[in-house]
Amino acid sequence: MSGAKIKKVVILGGGTAGWMIAALLAKVLGKAISITLVESDRIGTVGVGEATIPPIVNFNQALGLDEREFLRATKGTIKLGIQFENWLRQGESYMHAFGSVGKKFPFCDFHHFWCRHRHAGGTSSYWDYSLNYQAAVHNRFAPLAQIKGTNLPGISYAYHFDAGLYAQFLRRFAEDKGVHRIEGTVSGVQLCPRDGFVESLSLGGGQRIAAGLFVDCTGLAALLIEKTLGIDLESWSQWLPCDRAMAVPSAGSRPLIPYTRSIARAAGWQWRIPLQHRSGNGIVYSSDHWSDAQAREALMDSLDGEALAEPRIIPFRTGRRRNQWDRNVVSIGLSSGFLEPLESTSIHLIQSAATRLIKSFPHRGIRPAEVAEFNRQSKVEMERIRDFIILHYKLNQRRDTDFWRQCEAMEIPSTLADKIELFRHTGKVFRDYDDLFTEEAWQQVMLGQGIVPEDYHPIADTLSERQLDELMASLKTLIDGTVKSLPAHEEYLPFC
Ligand SMILES: Cc1cc2nc3c(=O)[nH]c(=O)nc-3n(C[C@H](O)[C@H](O)[C@H](O)COP(=O)(O)OP(=O)(O)OC[C@H]3O[C@@H](n4cnc5c(N)ncnc54)[C@H](O)[C@@H]3O)c2cc1C
Repeated sequence: MSGAKIKKVVILGGGTAGWMIAALLAKVLGKAISITLVESDRIGTVGVGEATIPPIVNFNQALGLDEREFLRATKGTIKLGIQFENWLRQGESYMHAFGSVGKKFPFCDFHHFWCRHRHAGGTSSYWDYSLNYQAAVHNRFAPLAQIKGTNLPGISYAYHFDAGLYAQFLRRFAEDKGVHRIEGTVSGVQLCPRDGFVESLSLGGGQRIAAGLFVDCTGLAALLIEKTLGIDLESWSQWLPCDRAMAVPSAGSRPLIPYTRSIARAAGWQWRIPLQHRSGNGIVYSSDHWSDAQAREALMDSLDGEALAEPRIIPFRTGRRRNQWDRNVVSIGLSSGFLEPLESTSIHLIQSAATRLIKSFPHRGIRPAEVAEFNRQSKVEMERIRDFIILHYKLNQRRDTDFWRQCEAMEIPSTLADKIELFRHTGKVFRDYDDLFTEEAWQQVMLGQGIVPEDYHPIADTLSERQLDELMASLKTLIDGTVKSLPAHEEYLPFC
């Protein structure tokens, strides 16, 4: 450990991760440090990662990006949630809609009132009370902080975008703020013999690039954190059964829907992402259950427009880098681990790691306590997301293929098993400290994947039957009326 000030940061990699970090570091710390980004045109980027979750709106706002300019430049659309089709059983679907559902009550979530209503014979769906869901299926959108005339929250949204265009957009931003870009392929890494810290990177032609801190954004290659420092992945493949993806763009279809589709298939699932200029498609599958040829057939036979390229295979390992930060290397993006794209969390993990890095940015030398705290936070964050993703696989009622039977039979982490049992028996679900996903997110996926809670919170009994009926009816009227007042999604994207 050296006590010298960190004056220079080198980001290795120019995918979504590299340019997101470069942009945020330049915006916040650009006056205190110099930032260089090295990327290789020869290697290129992973080229997927088109669906996001609501905190991305804050990321763009923190940079001061203009939303219209961003949507135009990245061919973006609005995302209000993810529709899960055929996950519980063939032919059934539900949505993990962002935002809140119903109305907040002190000490007791809305869904307890809904559960009591159901117990008393009510037939409404939980999603009747989700503004995001109703707006999504009616293809409507406008930013809305609150439902008019109430204190009920409005719409919570994220984006679909072309990942390559987003990286280019951020590159222009970061270069304007002084980030120095070097194109080249790193072929060697020099370590300090005393402490094993990375001293410099070497490029072809003998060029060396030294820095005090390196951010490894080399994607699945994990050149610094794994290949150089030897920090391996803690594998989560026993719970996350898929290990390959095949991606292909296709001609877009209209109208542009404001949600991602996730369609369960015989040995995995398929995504469909509407962009202004095309659709993003891909299939995530288990190589134990499907050959590439089977995946290809399943993908290509189900496109809703002409394929615009040959499908590309992306093998991956799910898991978490044991130390996201080791010595003077912080790994961010795919180099730090991967959870598969089911809940579109990878770009969010880049954002939160970038924020964490800035909050923990070393001043005089890199302190082990600082590194340990950074690693502890990232471990907890990833484990919570991991559990949420496992939930989708575990709680299925499909018995039609080995893949799904195996998912249903698998042992799951006790943290998740406890959560499921609590919800099943009591209807209660608690958001853990640092959990990215809200109670409403857990409730929707657990209900959507077939758990009907046996009970509800006694606070729901404090309303008379008539009051409960009135509550449900008034919320539904409010949400339906609000959705009708919103413009069509495409009106928000007038340039597309
Ligand atoms: C199938 C799939 C679907 C996904 N879908 C989503 C999604 O919907 N939503 C979401 O949030 N995330 C998604 N992700 C994750 C998302 O794609 C990544 O988190 C994101 O693109 C960041 O990637 P990256 O920048 O870490 O890596 P990459 O894009 O692979 O970039 C790596 C960079 O490192 C450079 N590099 C590598 N080696 C060298 C070297 N030796 N010298 C110089 N440069 C080098 C490369 O040139 C490149 O610039 C998905 C991932 C996969 C695999």
